[in-house]
Amino acid sequence: MYCTHPEHEHASADLLGSLERACSERGLRLTDTRRRVFELVAADSRPVKAYDLLEKIGKHGSGPAAPPTVYRALDFLMRNGFVHRLETLNAYVPCPHPEATDHGSQFLICEQCQETLELDAKDVADRLRTQARQQGFKPHRHTIEVYGLCARCSQAR
Ligand SMILES: [Zn+2]
Ligand SMILES: [Zn+2]
Repeated sequence: MYCTHPEHEHASADLLGSLERACSERGLRLTDTRRRVFELVAADSRPVKAYDLLEKIGKHGSGPAAPPTVYRALDFLMRNGFVHRLETLNAYVPCPHPEATDHGSQFLICEQCQETLELDAKDVADRLRTQARQQGFKPHRHTIEVYGLCARCSQAR
């Protein structure tokens, strides 16, 4: 099952709605900073670095948000699967399906424009976990990052 968003322009408003629903269903408190950080991550079709977030929040926020507050908000969003961190880029992307509580993360990352798509390849995640357990390994989380060219960039070649 793919949950691709080929056009990211529509994404942020829809995503914010799903985030709000997911929070109220799970009894999580969506503070202004948490909402704002999510909005900023969702507003970009490319992965967002923490320092870019800090800068944007400082510029448009109702007041300067202290870095620890922003990091705490990011931490909350990641812990609940609303935002994912790409390990190799050290950058954040919004989850296209914030209502999904438990899913492995697989990403297609364009080397040219950095557009990132999340796949929900449940069978891949399940097989990984099973094979890890067969080795006596207890997996906590995983991120699969696939690098290449997105549809648009490969057409432009
Ligand atoms: Zn996700
Ligand atoms: Zn691309």
